[in-house]
Amino acid sequence: MGCMQSDLFSSLPLPEATPIVLVAVARPLASALSYAWPFDQAPRPGCRVLVPLGNKVIVGILFGVENNSEAKDQLSSKPNSGFQLKPVKELLDNAPLLDSSLLKQAQFISQYYHQPIGEVLFTLLPSSLRKGESASPSLVRYWALCSAEKIKLRGQRQQALWQRLNEQPDKQLPVSELRLQGFNRSHFQGLQNKGLAEERLLPVSYAANNKAPSPALQLNAEQQQVLQAVKHDGFNCHLIFGITGSGKTELYLQSIEQALARGKQCLLLVPEIGLTPQLLSRFQQRFTLPIALLHSGLSDQERLNQWLLAANGQARIIIGTRSALFVPAPELGLIIIDEEHDPSFKQQDGIRYQARDLAVKRAADLGLPILLGSATPSLESLHNAYQGRYQLHYLRQRANDAQPPFIDMVDMRQHQGSQALADKTLKRMQEHLQQGNQVLVFLNRRGYAPSLLCSQCGWLADCPNCDARLVVHQQPERLQCHHCGWQHPVPSCCPSCGSHELHALGHGTVRLESQLQQHWPQLPLVRIDRDSTQGKQLAEQLAQIPEDQPGIFVGTQMLAKGHHLPSITLVVVVDGDAGFQGPDFRNLERMAQQLLQVAGRAGRGDRLGEVLIQSRYPEHGFFQVLRQQGYEQLAKQWLSERQSQQLPPFAAMATLRADHEQGEQALAQLQQAKQQLLAQGFNGRLLGPVPAPMSKRQGMHRYLIYLYCSQRAQLQQQLQLFHQWLYQSSLAGRLSIGLDVDPYDLG
Ligand code: ADP
Ligand code: ZN
Ligand code: ZN
Repeated sequence: MGCMQSDLFSSLPLPEATPIVLVAVARPLASALSYAWPFDQAPRPGCRVLVPLGNKVIVGILFGVENNSEAKDQLSSKPNSGFQLKPVKELLDNAPLLDSSLLKQAQFISQYYHQPIGEVLFTLLPSSLRKGESASPSLVRYWALCSAEKIKLRGQRQQALWQRLNEQPDKQLPVSELRLQGFNRSHFQGLQNKGLAEERLLPVSYAANNKAPSPALQLNAEQQQVLQAVKHDGFNCHLIFGITGSGKTELYLQSIEQALARGKQCLLLVPEIGLTPQLLSRFQQRFTLPIALLHSGLSDQERLNQWLLAANGQARIIIGTRSALFVPAPELGLIIIDEEHDPSFKQQDGIRYQARDLAVKRAADLGLPILLGSATPSLESLHNAYQGRYQLHYLRQRANDAQPPFIDMVDMRQHQGSQALADKTLKRMQEHLQQGNQVLVFLNRRGYAPSLLCSQCGWLADCPNCDARLVVHQQPERLQCHHCGWQHPVPSCCPSCGSHELHALGHGTVRLESQLQQHWPQLPLVRIDRDSTQGKQLAEQLAQIPEDQPGIFVGTQMLAKGHHLPSITLVVVVDGDAGFQGPDFRNLERMAQQLLQVAGRAGRGDRLGEVLIQSRYPEHGFFQVLRQQGYEQLAKQWLSERQSQQLPPFAAMATLRADHEQGEQALAQLQQAKQQLLAQGFNGRLLGPVPAPMSKRQGMHRYLIYLYCSQRAQLQQQLQLFHQWLYQSSLAGRLSIGLDVDPYDLG
């Protein structure tokens, strides 16, 4: 019925003065679509509308107004022209949701990553707005103290929750924030059952925090230099290369203070698992102004609320992961990227953007200062700094006089048997634990064991859908693929030879945990990985070992980031050689970043830290340079290798990827793509098509073409041409090829 009506409407000739608007929709279309604008008020780009498309009515974003009279003439000179242009059905917003700078950024993303403008624009919006829901804040849940009584509480966490709420001037906090700090409903119910607390539904707002903010620290000379170099009157980009604990966060706080004093909003982007309660509470203690938080633990509604607070200027500080870059902040005055090297800033599916790079672009467009901070900067950013495009600052000392940890190697060639940890490692752990300290054991592999082997015939359990081994899991006992999720019961005998000699090979965190339990049955032991944290907050789990007691944390990279665990004095890296395998030219860079990141967990308090790396290649140059000269020396070596091999950052790179159930099909598609590239005169380096390093995944065979050009502009020009062809071929249903510009993960 609705579409009949709209057809009827569109068959009427349009009045002379009807504007024509461009509307972007979430469809893989090359450009925005033209519609007639039937409303009295002027069309404003950035507002959402409902438009007819085919026989549906869908949400669109007003992207532009066609005021080019030539375009109009062309339309009206076509036969039946007035009959073709359908009118916009409904205007959903009174004011634009995306301002002109974000619309411009969307256009840039669309061009640079060769993605449809509509899909880019919809990626920028919180998901409830994509669906056409109202852009107004909803009520949010708060937990609040409703009695001033102080009864003795049993649980430690209940006590902590009571304390946290009692600290607040109005004795209440949004549930989303409390969850981030590791509190859950059972802690709350403990208080509720005693009549101490209640749940309230309130409009999002910020009660004035009338606690006195904690004062800024006196900066040391290195920090002082950076703060002075940050200018608030135009674009300037700074790379802060500072070891863990050197006071980067303190610098962020003080630069933010300066921007706030000028009436500006500030944006801090952190890695996916870097948004810790400690970081948040440091910000809350320093600033009384409202902070918007955008993290993955929010519901759609909560996310929208935070987004709106930033957009209407109420929130003066915005902290979030990758996608928070696109939050509208009308008075933005400073952008900070913490852990700028972190892989999670690159989106790995859909619109494959690199948030760090786009942040620098946004700062340049808006004329703002931007700070990139890391203990292990990406080679891309270091290169930019060495070239003078970014100002490079070193923070070489730990700010609070703590000493950087001492790194030692454990030679695993001497080590035999089924234990993950060498005797030397166990002995060193015992020493630290005996002194009442905590130990972090790092192994970036979850599950019980990474493979199942038949010792009779050498059969290994492989995933039927992927080019990958099945991982042995317990509770329930099963084989599981970490790439497609496929599961299978552990066979009782070898499917190949019938032997019962099946062995779990190698170590995952679960097996490691059980070995540690045998060694220290009396000590608290907490495992942190994706399996252990399901449905639980990291903070809650970490709180299981009190700061003043010895204990062991074992876990994957989830443990490596951000969390301040001051009682850890020893970090054990179980498999220091993990990064030597693999085809990616960034393997060693990533390995060094990861090692130093976990190493940074050691000795953050007033106690000296130590790091033990278990390796079968302890004399390898990688470890030697890392220990004696540090990350920058390694980075310089790699940069010169990349230069001689013409790899990023000395070349611009893109990949083309085809996935197909039949390998020959994927290959054939890329062969066509290659022919097109050669026919259009591609003059960079082209490798492939070749099987992807992981040649099969989720039942799809995967092939790649690698493209390199010495100049970014040259690559873009080629991709532009190529993309037009690709788009036409895809429309015709002939091809399905993914394009990744500046790819990060080549697996
Ligand atoms: P990073 O972010 O580089 O890891 P932080 O800013 O967290 O470093 O600083 C590490 C520790 O040193 C924190 O406890 C912080 O309060 C303290 N700190 C930072 N700057 C100073 C300073 N100028 N004087 C004293 N302590 C400082
Ligand atoms: Zn699989
Ligand atoms: Zn066998």
